[in-house]
Amino acid sequence: MENWIEKDLEYIWHPCSQMKDYEELKPIVIKKGEGIYLYDINDKKYVDVISSWWCNLLGHCNPKINAAIKKQVDELEHVIFANFTHTQAIKLCERLSKILPKGLCKFNFTDNGSSAIEAAMKVSFQYHQQTGNPQKTKFMALTEAYHGETIGALSVGDCDLYSKLYKPILMDIVRVQGPDCFRCPYGKCRDNCNCECFEHAEKVFKDHGNETAAMLVEPLLQGSAGMKIYPPLYLKKLRELCDKYNVHLLADEIATGFGRTGKLFAFDHAGVSPDIMCLSKGLTGGYMPMAMFVTTQKIYDAFYDDYNSGKAFMHSHTYSGNPLACSAANAVLDILEDGSILKQAQENAIYFNKIIKEKFLPHPNVGEVRNIGLINAIELVEDKQSKKPFDGKLRIGYQIYKKALMEGVILRPLGNIIYFNPPLIIKKEDMDFVTDVALNSLEKILPQKS
Ligand SMILES: *Cc1c(COP(=O)(O)O)cnc(C)c1O
Repeated sequence: MENWIEKDLEYIWHPCSQMKDYEELKPIVIKKGEGIYLYDINDKKYVDVISSWWCNLLGHCNPKINAAIKKQVDELEHVIFANFTHTQAIKLCERLSKILPKGLCKFNFTDNGSSAIEAAMKVSFQYHQQTGNPQKTKFMALTEAYHGETIGALSVGDCDLYSKLYKPILMDIVRVQGPDCFRCPYGKCRDNCNCECFEHAEKVFKDHGNETAAMLVEPLLQGSAGMKIYPPLYLKKLRELCDKYNVHLLADEIATGFGRTGKLFAFDHAGVSPDIMCLSKGLTGGYMPMAMFVTTQKIYDAFYDDYNSGKAFMHSHTYSGNPLACSAANAVLDILEDGSILKQAQENAIYFNKIIKEKFLPHPNVGEVRNIGLINAIELVEDKQSKKPFDGKLRIGYQIYKKALMEGVILRPLGNIIYFNPPLIIKKEDMDFVTDVALNSLEKILPQKS
């Protein structure tokens, strides 16, 4: 038998990894996926409770999505998307326009989330250039934001782990102190506060609104920051503030779209629309690298003119609107269409959160259990009263991850935050299993003193 692990380590540089860690924890060679399970070459089963980096929406090897792609590949695998089009892309955009927050109706395709963010930033900048506001050259984003890894997307992000080293080559961003509901400086609670922390945004807009093209935001859930969750009221207030200063509200729904937060899109909780929305991850069910930004007629119109006006958006990606990816996305919408998956997920979300609270809250190192939709995060702290975090160098989350892997559960925590972000189709017995394994793994690393 070939030694796949040895060969992997010889050739492959894995993403977001210190490769030296792989000396001890070898890469796991996955052979097969089915529903929320993955199987390695030794037939060991793993529960993919993080949706393979938050993108798998409806299970691995979903029969309907598989069939759609197989059908499409025999018809058309790819075609240049400038001046050419195809029915899968057209159908997809028409269908999305009917379910997206109101006003979002013009679709621009890219092939990964970071690129969608950058295309959206460029379009916002260019809009202001072409509508008499050339001074609007800045972007605003929240503290601890995450918007991707390419230079522009990394600039708007604010997670030190990913961006600190690169600061000298990143853009200058106007930073808004964002909500921190677990350690709220106002002593409030996210369920019934008035977003007192919004005063930071007001001040920053007053100082910089006039020179800002767009404010980027991960609506309700700052994923990479450690699944930080904040109330919809914050988005409503942001909508008003952006209108006041003629700043585009740019929603990064790459992680939150397609039912992850209990509604189709996180902005649906707030009842307002952004000016530009970025989508990826769940868009193709986690099958194909595809992303897009979607925007309004108003923004689109600012680019629409005779060619020689120079107002066109001259941005492209080779794989823009890839037909295979569009066919997968259409299959996802077919599956979501009757609403039963989302309804089931909403019901299961209540159960999931209940058992997680019951199992984890009594543990002396669990500072908070927070949830939105099926996403649940457990923040581990050194001290429950003071909420003092563990020293990151202890790699508490990583140690728990390794224990859970042995038991067949993929947790991949963010620092000291263990989280579950499963495909929408997860069943109750799987919730019971993964929470038991996670708790056992936690107790192996942080035993409860009794
Ligand atoms: C994953 C993610 C991105 C980046 O998408 P990639 O496809 O990995 O480039 C951007 N924003 C958010 C909120 C994400 O979760």
